[in-house]
Amino acid sequence: MYKTHTCGELRPEHENQIVTLAGWVHHYRLLGGIAFIVLRDRFGLVQVVSDPQRYPQAAQEMENVRAEWVIQVKGRVRLRPPDQVNPRMATGAVEVEAHEVKVLNPAKPLPFLVSREDETVDEAVRLKYRYLDLRRQRMQRNLELRHRVIKFMRDYLDARGFLEIETPILFKATPEGARDYLVPSRLYPGQFYALPQSPQQLKQLLMVAGVERYFQIARCFRDEDQRGDRQPEFTQLDIEMAFVERDDVLHLVEDLFTALIPAVAPHKRLLASPWPRLTYAEAIERYGSDKPDLRFGLELWEATDLFAQSTFRVFQDAIQQGGVIKGICVPGAATFTRKELDQLTEEAQRLGARGLVSLVLAPDGTKGSGAKFVQESELQALRARSGAQQGDLLLLVADQRPIANKVLGGLRLFLRDRLKLADPQVMAFAWITDFPMFEWNEEEQKWDAAHHPFTMPRLEDLEKFETDPASILSEAYDMVCNGYELASGSIRIHRREIQSKVFSLLGIDEETARRKFGHMLEAFEYGAPPHGGIAPGIDRLVMLLADEPSIREVIAFPKNSAARDVMADAPSPVEPRQLQELHIRIVE
Ligand code: ASP
Repeated sequence: MYKTHTCGELRPEHENQIVTLAGWVHHYRLLGGIAFIVLRDRFGLVQVVSDPQRYPQAAQEMENVRAEWVIQVKGRVRLRPPDQVNPRMATGAVEVEAHEVKVLNPAKPLPFLVSREDETVDEAVRLKYRYLDLRRQRMQRNLELRHRVIKFMRDYLDARGFLEIETPILFKATPEGARDYLVPSRLYPGQFYALPQSPQQLKQLLMVAGVERYFQIARCFRDEDQRGDRQPEFTQLDIEMAFVERDDVLHLVEDLFTALIPAVAPHKRLLASPWPRLTYAEAIERYGSDKPDLRFGLELWEATDLFAQSTFRVFQDAIQQGGVIKGICVPGAATFTRKELDQLTEEAQRLGARGLVSLVLAPDGTKGSGAKFVQESELQALRARSGAQQGDLLLLVADQRPIANKVLGGLRLFLRDRLKLADPQVMAFAWITDFPMFEWNEEEQKWDAAHHPFTMPRLEDLEKFETDPASILSEAYDMVCNGYELASGSIRIHRREIQSKVFSLLGIDEETARRKFGHMLEAFEYGAPPHGGIAPGIDRLVMLLADEPSIREVIAFPKNSAARDVMADAPSPVEPRQLQELHIRIVE
């Protein structure tokens, strides 16, 4: 045994015990001929002190060590003199008098100091030396939190009869709307496995297999352009259940998360219980987003009807072109400066608006870009609709409905960050339901599945397949929180004829369907139970719980924002022989 105790556990009750510790030199200094080392292991820090008179050899060793050397210390626990107690350290009431010190392994000078938590180190350096970065307290905390979250999920689902089942990584393309990562086959020239974009097909096949309640802490692989905070591989709590309706799935996950948050992150509060539910259409109309942040107000309202007689060209044009006038009221923002208003306009334009109409309800009269064009009666009606008071700021967008919603939804978030409207300790979970089944792909002039092609369309919408696919709603749902989509799921198609209908609208003909998903289609012909599921993303959840700005902070070995592993330097070229074996030639 290298250690009898962990560094973090020593307390006054260990006084006079002879202990053996092992860990890293967190910090060292020499003071009046005495060496002081703060020794660190995963469980904490403790001070080790030399006694050159009584233990000269140990003292000598201690003088030689440097930061991050791995050492073993045998010594006596003693109380620190009252004036030297360190209340910021859990072990701050004691120290270890070193009797024997053994260097287990020295360390080169480090690219950054593990002990300097507050020092900002370039992310490229942190990721290159991730194994050192992970030694830092912040990262250790994140690793532990992630572990707690996953363990809670496992225990919770296990207690409810779920089985955790691993599904293959080498599989066949499972569409989730991204590009596949392909793995060339050595044994079958010219043939490829695809890494699963999710275990979607497999978990559905497990339902056909009679498992009824499945989950997996599943890795998903999606070759997407790396915009925003994405990773080529990420982790989901993948769930599938048979003989369930939508609300069964929602209740399970809502109860799981409602129990999880206080257990793993007691400083967080849920906004509401039960969680609010909004239809997709409602979310878009009220928040301009299908993943609304519900921690603050600033809801969108419509004012098209109030400006039916408007003489303002911008409003007239929008209405004539079938557009709308929508807005938000920003309480107390009448004090915004000219420059701040200009920034809002710039942001609106960046989001796709032609312009932004502002009405500043200042004590000495209405100002802003719309003041000249809005009549008193219109203003009154607007105030009644929006609840605006004197001192508030009204922002209006006149455009096609989707653009107006998107712009105002974006401004809402811009103002949230600007005015700090959202409490970071609140977790505002909500369900979004009744998504459209299909989305028109303008580029390729075809319908895409809004969720994935195995999602059940609403049965009452089945006849609209021929007439109006855009209006078909699906049995899909999202779990959102604080402006993030934390989970997607749906009730699935379990009848072959409906699956065929969906494939054919997506432009997947019988032959292609058989080639790509023949196994699924066939499985559905052998008694597939009604089933549905969901897959909450674990990275983003832990990120929110850890108050981290990026999912990279809660993944042990993430890729950088350009999808590279800078520690191992991957992707990287391979030996020509390997390529040959795989029957692959590189096109320069
Ligand atoms: N496979 C889906 C996804 O990864 C989740 C689900 O429908 O259960 O988003």
